[in-house]
Amino acid sequence: MQRATADLIGIKALSRDEITSQFAEVGLPAFRAKQVIQWLYQKGAHSYDEMTNLPLALREQLSESLPLHFPEIVRKQVSQDGTRKYLLRLGDGALVESVAMPTKTRLSACVSTQAGCPMRCQFCATGRNGYTRSLGCGEIVDQATVIAQDFGQRVTNVVLMGQGEPFLNYDASIEAMRIFNSKDGLGIGARHITVSTCGILPQIRRFAQEPEQFTLAVSLHSAVQETRDRIMPGVRSYPLERLHDSIASYAEATGRRPTYEYALMAGINDSDAELKALVAFTRRTLCHVNLIQLNEVKGSSYHPSTDERLNAFKIGLERAGVEVTVRESRGSDIDAACGQLKQKASRK
Ligand code: SAH
Repeated sequence: MQRATADLIGIKALSRDEITSQFAEVGLPAFRAKQVIQWLYQKGAHSYDEMTNLPLALREQLSESLPLHFPEIVRKQVSQDGTRKYLLRLGDGALVESVAMPTKTRLSACVSTQAGCPMRCQFCATGRNGYTRSLGCGEIVDQATVIAQDFGQRVTNVVLMGQGEPFLNYDASIEAMRIFNSKDGLGIGARHITVSTCGILPQIRRFAQEPEQFTLAVSLHSAVQETRDRIMPGVRSYPLERLHDSIASYAEATGRRPTYEYALMAGINDSDAELKALVAFTRRTLCHVNLIQLNEVKGSSYHPSTDERLNAFKIGLERAGVEVTVRESRGSDIDAACGQLKQKASRK
């Protein structure tokens, strides 16, 4: 998996510890690293020139040795429901999409963790355009900063649910979540930071050991092995039974309730047999099921289910005592809804 290195994208590739240790190596005191980190993430600086409490010589030295790139908004679309979708160009020319979802009291940012995605989920637009690279932690954080600056408002919630598979870019994703959470970063409560995975089991086990109260979502989409293998071929090597065990251990270790994402697709995963399997998979475990109608992807052979089937799933789960919500899609008129982020990850 191609990593985003500092050679390629500059300082946004580095964790805060790496910044501090690289500064120490060239004899710079720790408070200088802290100042730079605050400029990058708390103040959302676009260049070293803004860092007026650093000596000019240091700013010049840093722009040489560790270039600072801030994403450029290539295109912005605004949905009828207020959702905004951004196409951003990163330091090396890679493109990613991010989505902002405002409500009266909240501003949620949906951010990408990779340019493109290697997972090949059949119903999702992102993977169709291939995969370029993983993002650096700073590039993940910057997407929320772009949104906060565009709205002139602080971001209250972040979901790592844009393009890419966060658990194939684990270190950068976790560091980004920590920066979102940090007082020197965006200061967002850990419970308001959610990461979604298609089920990379070793990383779910690792995530269970992280001390913060971050929220975990898992894309399930079918509790029937054959169906899931077909629609999510990228996670065939992690069978459902082991996913179930890993989630149970996660819930036990953390006491937190993970969410299963289930997008209803007509004739694929919405039969009574599929419902029965889903009930068996989720009942008597600490979890929450999030049902959503599949969002239409142009040219795809997968289509949303009927409202009747959606209702049948909701009622079936409720009767079995499984906690369930139906999620409304936002921004579908501008292709900003789940699974519709497809901008080809390409270079300048
Ligand atoms: N790779 C991670 C993060 C992406 S999150 C993951 O798979 O969880 C994006 C969510 O949207 C995932 O739950 C994904 O399965 C879902 N999704 C993909 N295509 C969709 C579509 N067409 N309609 C609704 N949800 C979709």
